[in-house]
Amino acid sequence: MDELLKELRAKGYKMTPQRRAVITALLECGKFPTAQQLLAKVKQAAPDVSLDTIYRNLSLLIDLGLVNEIHLPGRGNVFELTTNQHHHHLVCVRCGKAECLDYCPVSAQDLEKAAEQGFEIISHSLEFYGYCRSCRLAG
Ligand SMILES: [Zn+2]
Ligand SMILES: [Zn+2]
Ligand SMILES: [Zn+2]
Repeated sequence: MDELLKELRAKGYKMTPQRRAVITALLECGKFPTAQQLLAKVKQAAPDVSLDTIYRNLSLLIDLGLVNEIHLPGRGNVFELTTNQHHHHLVCVRCGKAECLDYCPVSAQDLEKAAEQGFEIISHSLEFYGYCRSCRLAG
């Protein structure tokens, strides 16, 4: 929490009660809550918060690189606090579970190709879709 606070300040944002509530909910919900699950959590402390408010705060945190958004087919989007390390996700198309892939398979050369086209990349997101271990075992 302290580090996120520093990060927000460094980028010129204040830790408002709403932002704090959303970040606390992300910490407490564990891995990959949906916006609705975050809303339910935030509402325990602040009953008049709306889903809109959750989305607005999430999108700011995503823009700042503090939160990852992962698209799960059929389940919408889920969220996680960004760990220090930039990483990607493996998403099971059968059960909709996501797992972290703790490294980035995008090489510097890949990014240079975009630069050759005159494009300046500031960030990227990448998800891998397939079947998780338990779905594979279940056949
Ligand atoms: Zn699965
Ligand atoms: Zn992750
Ligand atoms: Zn990457």
